[in-house]
Amino acid sequence: MEIARRRFDTLIIGAGGGGLRAALQLSSAEAHVAVVSKVFPTRSHTVAAQGGVNAALANVLPDNWHWHMFDSVKGSDYLGDQDAIEYMCRTAPQAVYELEHFGVPFTRLDDGRIYQRAFGGQSQNFGGDQAARTCAAADRTGHAILQSLYQQNIRARTHFFDEYFAIDLIRDNEGYLLGAVVMNIANSELLLIEARATLLATGGAGQLYRTNTNALINTGDGMAMTLRAGIPLQDMEFFQFHPTGIAGKGMLISEAVRGEGGYLVNAEGERFMERYAPGAKDLASRDIVSRAIATEVREGRGCGKGKDHVLLRVDHLGAEKVHQRLPAICDMVRTFLGFDPAESPIPVSPTTHYTMGGIPTNRYGQVVAPEQQGAEEPVPGLYAAGECACVSVHGANRLGGNSLLDILVFGRAAANHIVDYLRENRYHKPCPKEGTEPAQERLARWEQKGDGESVDSLRTELARVMEEDCGVFRREEVLQEGLDKVMALAARLDDAHLTDHSKVFNTARIEALELENLMDIALATVTSALQRKESRGAHSRIDYPERDDVHWLRHSLYHRDTRSVDYKPVRTKPITVESFPPKERIY
Ligand SMILES: Cc1cc2nc3c(=O)[nH]c(=O)nc-3n(C[C@H](O)[C@H](O)[C@H](O)COP(=O)(O)OP(=O)(O)OC[C@H]3O[C@@H](n4cnc5c(N)ncnc54)[C@H](O)[C@@H]3O)c2cc1C
Repeated sequence: MEIARRRFDTLIIGAGGGGLRAALQLSSAEAHVAVVSKVFPTRSHTVAAQGGVNAALANVLPDNWHWHMFDSVKGSDYLGDQDAIEYMCRTAPQAVYELEHFGVPFTRLDDGRIYQRAFGGQSQNFGGDQAARTCAAADRTGHAILQSLYQQNIRARTHFFDEYFAIDLIRDNEGYLLGAVVMNIANSELLLIEARATLLATGGAGQLYRTNTNALINTGDGMAMTLRAGIPLQDMEFFQFHPTGIAGKGMLISEAVRGEGGYLVNAEGERFMERYAPGAKDLASRDIVSRAIATEVREGRGCGKGKDHVLLRVDHLGAEKVHQRLPAICDMVRTFLGFDPAESPIPVSPTTHYTMGGIPTNRYGQVVAPEQQGAEEPVPGLYAAGECACVSVHGANRLGGNSLLDILVFGRAAANHIVDYLRENRYHKPCPKEGTEPAQERLARWEQKGDGESVDSLRTELARVMEEDCGVFRREEVLQEGLDKVMALAARLDDAHLTDHSKVFNTARIEALELENLMDIALATVTSALQRKESRGAHSRIDYPERDDVHWLRHSLYHRDTRSVDYKPVRTKPITVESFPPKERIY
């Protein structure tokens, strides 16, 4: 069936911070840009970011970009690509000043400069004293950034398709990206958006796990679309577990709480982080703090009836500081737990938070894929930025405050590269009629009611399997069992039917498409985790407890068609400075 078409120079899928930063750069360069988002732009998950964005401004303590680079490389457990990390850390101050000019109301010091707080894994002088590098608008930084970027885009006349769901990318036989098929959620009409360049900025896939800090929309759609377009996903075994989600509920209690002086205690009232990270203590990097909490719980020192969590204390800081610096956290604790954190400790446990892996790109945001001969080539016309991409600046473990930075820096870098690409590729390539068929067929299949389970129950089961079999600590047999279960679930998907409210709401169709995407991401994650026989960053194998640089200092690439994983080298050479060679990671 022929569907309606629209043409733009560039299509951006995703209106979080990454998509909007790129759109602003392009619209300001007078490119004709369409931004598609499945929710109203300012509801994208970026809005939930609390703690802040890193840049070595040295407003509170001495700092420079090179120390920031060292911390990020070390934080990544040496799996991050050092050219991209150098670029990000050097560009960070500019990214923050741009935000200031776009209207972000940063918290200020008394002398008017931007306030900066301490966050995990930050150091002065290449591993020395704690640094303070995170610029914040109280604990609502993402909200402030997203609103400002959206307003700037309205001013720059970016064209928005709000509440449109992108289903699939369109690629021609030569490999060029031609745009995407999207669906208007309000009336399920399909639209082909043709574009000379397409940027994916669809965010992470935290919904893969039952307890997570992510928005319900974070279902890895862009990553799954990329897999279906024949491009592998990189480093999918690396999922970040944030140490402090509200126990049993998952809402995030920002690292800013520990940055402002909060600390963790076990059932014995002990500040146990002193044993795991004598230097940085509660501000060690997230993988280390999460494992420490999981170990305390496993060894019987957890709190509460189920002995399944620990406590985060800020009651020693004084109500005035807590209420002023952490207003949103206080609101959230009052709403969901019914008390004021300035008076009582908060029950917390590690919670799925961030997708380190994703669509492989270089530092210009170009999606890169292996060619026949093994070398990597950019996929013409396809870009990715933000949490859906793997550039890779976070490697095996992301530092807090580096993701807002990542989306700003690489959103902008991708847009700059697209401007050049548009100049060299002046005409739209014809989109073959049959290009839209796979997307239409997927939708049509869901209209035929299968006699198996509902989408809803399959999604719940998938999230439970991921949590039980591919969590903070992993080992061979459990991962293998997890993989078998996910494969079985994927097979059951063929007979599944839309959740009942489909008779009324179109959202049931969206949930079905999201589940297909999650299923692919789950297979990528468990398969990659099973293959990596070492412990690095967030990927912690009980059966292979050591990091193994000889065999495993390399990125994984998961291929959908063969369900197999192969590997490529880490880019260890920075742009202008010396490499940081792998060392033991001590905090
Ligand atoms: C609770 C929380 C707190 C955080 N705090 C911090 C922090 O303090 N500092 C920090 O650095 N990082 C933080 N992070 C991480 C950071 O906020 C995110 O990694 C980052 O904002 C992601 O931005 P993004 O632009 O890549 O994607 P998102 O903001 O997630 O946006 C994704 C966009 O893609 C669209 N989309 C997705 N799929 C489709 C589809 N199929 N069709 C159409 N549109 C689609 C969505 O509608 C949305 O507009 C936090 C994350 C969470 C969850």
